[in-house]
Amino acid sequence: MLRIGMRLRASGNRCPVLTSLPYAHVILSRRVENETQFMQLALEEAAAAAAAGEVPIGALIVYDSKVLAISGNRTIRDCDPTAHAEIIVIREAARLLGNYRLAGTTLYVTLEPCSMCAGAMIQARIPRLAYGADDPKGGAVRSCFEVLTHDKLNHQVEIVSGVLASECASLLQAFFAARR
Ligand SMILES: [Zn+2]
Repeated sequence: MLRIGMRLRASGNRCPVLTSLPYAHVILSRRVENETQFMQLALEEAAAAAAAGEVPIGALIVYDSKVLAISGNRTIRDCDPTAHAEIIVIREAARLLGNYRLAGTTLYVTLEPCSMCAGAMIQARIPRLAYGADDPKGGAVRSCFEVLTHDKLNHQVEIVSGVLASECASLLQAFFAARR
């Protein structure tokens, strides 16, 4: 489990060593258990997406400790290149909250968001992101770009990476192995 972002540095008082590490390991807590539970739901959406022939990525948005919106990728089904799981749940959450800003929410997604989805998170002012596997082929959190922590942007996102990372990565690997 890795944590990155501004809030980590701000909360460094409790564990001073974290302030000197860009990617610090964090001790398991109740909050982390919740993160695992929510990611498990995102994984189920990812598996359902795979069953529908989509790339197995699942996402959900939590607000007030409840799941507000949940979806897998729908790009192929919807003939929509923007229908990544994150975009779908951002749209649905905004509709349900009646607000284009998603204050107080956490976005969970099984794979590190791409630049489009990271950009949408900034537009929506989503304050927290928890994701599973890193994406070395396009991840815009830290693997290829660092959109969410860019110092030109005012909005900063608290980031938790590596939540059920091996399960999230295995689902993708199995999907692509079966298509080869
Ligand atoms: Zn995306």
